[in-house]
Order: sequence, then C-alpha cells, then structure tokens
Amino acid sequence: MLPRDCPKCGLTFNAINAYGQCPDCRYAFEALPTQIILSGHLGKTSESDLLAAIAAYHQVPFLVSLDYPVENKLATELGEAFCRCHSTIPIKIDGTVRFIVNDPAIHGLVDDLLDKTKQLPEFAVSDISCIRKKQNEHFGCSTRRSSIDIFPMEIPDRT
Ligand SMILES: [Zn+2]
Repeated sequence: MLPRDCPKCGLTFNAINAYGQCPDCRYAFEALPTQIILSGHLGKTSESDLLAAIAAYHQVPFLVSLDYPVENKLATELGEAFCRCHSTIPIKIDGTVRFIVNDPAIHGLVDDLLDKTKQLPEFAVSDISCIRKKQNEHFGCSTRRSSIDIFPMEIPDRT
C-alpha cells in the first residue's frame, strides 16, 4: 500500500498504486514518489506547497519562475524525446547545471540521466507547466501531446 496525504482535505490514506482517490473528499490524484515518502507530514497542500516540500526534502532549489537559461548543448544531446518523456530539461543556475523536474525521486530518472550524461544529476523542482514552457522554448512546440503527458498530476482545487 502506498500512503499519501490528500492535497485537498489533508487526510492520510492508502492506495494500491500511485493513482488513488481520497476516501473522504473523493479527490483523485497521482501521488508523486516524494509525496508518498512524506505522507502524514504534508496535510492539505496547494500544488506549489507540495512542490516546495518536495524540493526541501531533496535539498534542491524550488523555482517559482524559470528565469534561467536552458543548457542548450546538453538539452540537444539528450534530445527532445528523452526530455519530454522524463518531463525535464537542463538549465543553468548560478553556474550549475540542474535538471528541472516535478520530483527528483521519480522512478528511473536518476538512472536514465546517469546513463546518458555519465554523471550524477543535480536537480531543481518546478511546476510542470514551467518545465513544458522551457521545453517548448528549446525544442519548439510539440503537437504530440501523448508524448508529454507521461506523469499526469491534477492541480489541486484552490477554491
Ligand atoms: Zn481528501
């Protein structure tokens, strides 16, 4: 069983896979790996609270806006399919190359980056829409939506 805190009502509950529905408020969402690790500690969270908590857990920057340049050479080497499939792109922050992601603990991410770049990746956490914006800036807009919706995550209702 995979425990997680419902972002909408804060209830901690178990589901058999990452996708699950809150038994209390019926909110259905895909739990990120770090959201599962932090279950019982998160409670009710907005999407940005959740991403900030994930960044803090991994001790990496949480970027609210992406005013940093794409690391063009590396992004081109990794390729569009790889970056979109992993919902990431390398950017340069104060001289350090960091991969922006929703959650550094996503299964297979570190291994695949290590395999491609031959070095341990540094990360920064950001919103999926910011990540896609950066990908579109670098690769151009993609119409193949199926290739970019690998990790669906519903945005918590803020009302
Ligand atoms: Zn709930």
